[in-house]
Amino acid sequence: MKKILGILLLGFLFSGKANAGINEPGISLLSPQCKLNFKIEHDKIKKSLKKNQTAVLYGSCNNGRWSYASDKGKNLKRLHKKTFKECMKYADEFTGTECFLYAVNEEVVWKHDKVKEAAILEERQAQLNKRPGNFFIYNIDDSLPKKWVAEFENIMNVLQDVIPIPNNMNEYLKNPGMDIYAWKSSKKNPFPKVKNNMKGACICGNGSDRWMQLEINSNEFKNKEIHRYSVIPHEYFHVYQIALSKNKLSDRDSPKWLTEGQAKVFEEMYVKQYYEKDNLKNDLSRTKKWSKKVFKEPELYEKHKTSNKKGMDGNYAGSAFMVLALINELEQNNISERKAFQLVFRDFWIERANNRKWEKAFEQTFKISAEEFYERLSKYKRKDYKTILPSDTIKIQEIFS
Ligand SMILES: [Zn+2]
Repeated sequence: MKKILGILLLGFLFSGKANAGINEPGISLLSPQCKLNFKIEHDKIKKSLKKNQTAVLYGSCNNGRWSYASDKGKNLKRLHKKTFKECMKYADEFTGTECFLYAVNEEVVWKHDKVKEAAILEERQAQLNKRPGNFFIYNIDDSLPKKWVAEFENIMNVLQDVIPIPNNMNEYLKNPGMDIYAWKSSKKNPFPKVKNNMKGACICGNGSDRWMQLEINSNEFKNKEIHRYSVIPHEYFHVYQIALSKNKLSDRDSPKWLTEGQAKVFEEMYVKQYYEKDNLKNDLSRTKKWSKKVFKEPELYEKHKTSNKKGMDGNYAGSAFMVLALINELEQNNISERKAFQLVFRDFWIERANNRKWEKAFEQTFKISAEEFYERLSKYKRKDYKTILPSDTIKIQEIFS
C-alpha cells in the first residue's frame, strides 16, 4: 500500500462535497499540484498492474494541499472501503476535506463537473446561511450543572465577540459549523449516537469530521477548580489557530510550545480577567511542573512526543514559559506588550498560512529567527517567570482589537 502526503501552498480550490463516500468519483476542479501528484501515483500503478487485479486510487485535494492512498486487490468492495479509509486518515490531518475516487485501473474517473460543483457550493452556502452567526453547535449533556452551562454560554459569547472564528474554518470541517460536546466525567458514554466512549478535552477528528470535546472532571466541581471553565477558552483558541493558519496545527506543521503554550497563556489570561484566578503564576512557580530543558533543549518542546514526560510540560507550563519569554524578547525590541501579544497570538498564525515552514513564518512575524530566540532563551532562569508574566492590567480585548 502506498500513501503520500503533500503540502503545497500555491493555488486554491474548494474541493469536494459535504458527504462524499466510498466509490464516489471526484468532480471538483483539481489544482495543478493535486493533478500532478495524483498523476505520478497513477502512472506508477498502471505500470505495476497485474491481471485479475483491480487498482484504485483515492485522493483528497484542498487549499493547495493533497493526500492520497492507493491499493490493489480482488475483492472490490473491501478494496474500495479500505483505500478510502486510508485516504481519509491522512486527509483529516493534511487537507481537512474528503477523499474521492481518482482512478480505477487505467482509467481516471475524477472528472471536473462545473454544474455539480456549483450546486454543491450553493447547498453549502445555504446551510451556512441557516445558522447566521452560530458557528458552534452546542451539545450539552444533562450531567453538567446548570451553573456550568450558564458560564459556558457566557464564555462562548465573550470569545466569539473577542476572537471570532473566521469563515474559512468551515473548509476544515465536514459540515458547516462545529459541534461542541460537553459532559461531566461521571457520566459514561454521553453521546453514543455520535461516538462511543468519548474521553477528555480536545479538538478531535475521526477521519472525516472534527468537533470540540469537553469532558469536565467531576472533581473539578467538588474542588471548585477553575479549570472546569478555563478549558473552554483553551480549546476555543485552538479552533482560532486552525482557522488563521489554514489548518497548520499538527506537530509536523507548527511547534507544540507555540500551539499549546499560547492556548495555555490565553486560557489563564481569560480566567484571570473574568474569575480573578492566577493559575499561570502558580504553575510556573512549581519546579515539578516543568523542566529546565526549556532553556537548553527547547527543540524538545516542538513535539508532543518529545516533551510529554512527567515533569517536562505539566499543564503546558514549560510551553507557556517559552511563549512568555518570546513576548518578553519582543518587548525588549521596543514593542508594546499589547502589540507583542498580538504578534504571537494572532499575526504569527496569519503568516503561518502563507509559509511552507513555521521557522519562516516565525522570522517574518517576530523579526528574529527561531534559532536566535532559542539562543536568548538559554540565558533565562526559572525565577524569571516572575518578570515575564502578563501585566495585571492587560485585557484580552486589547490584544485582538
Ligand atoms: Zn491544547
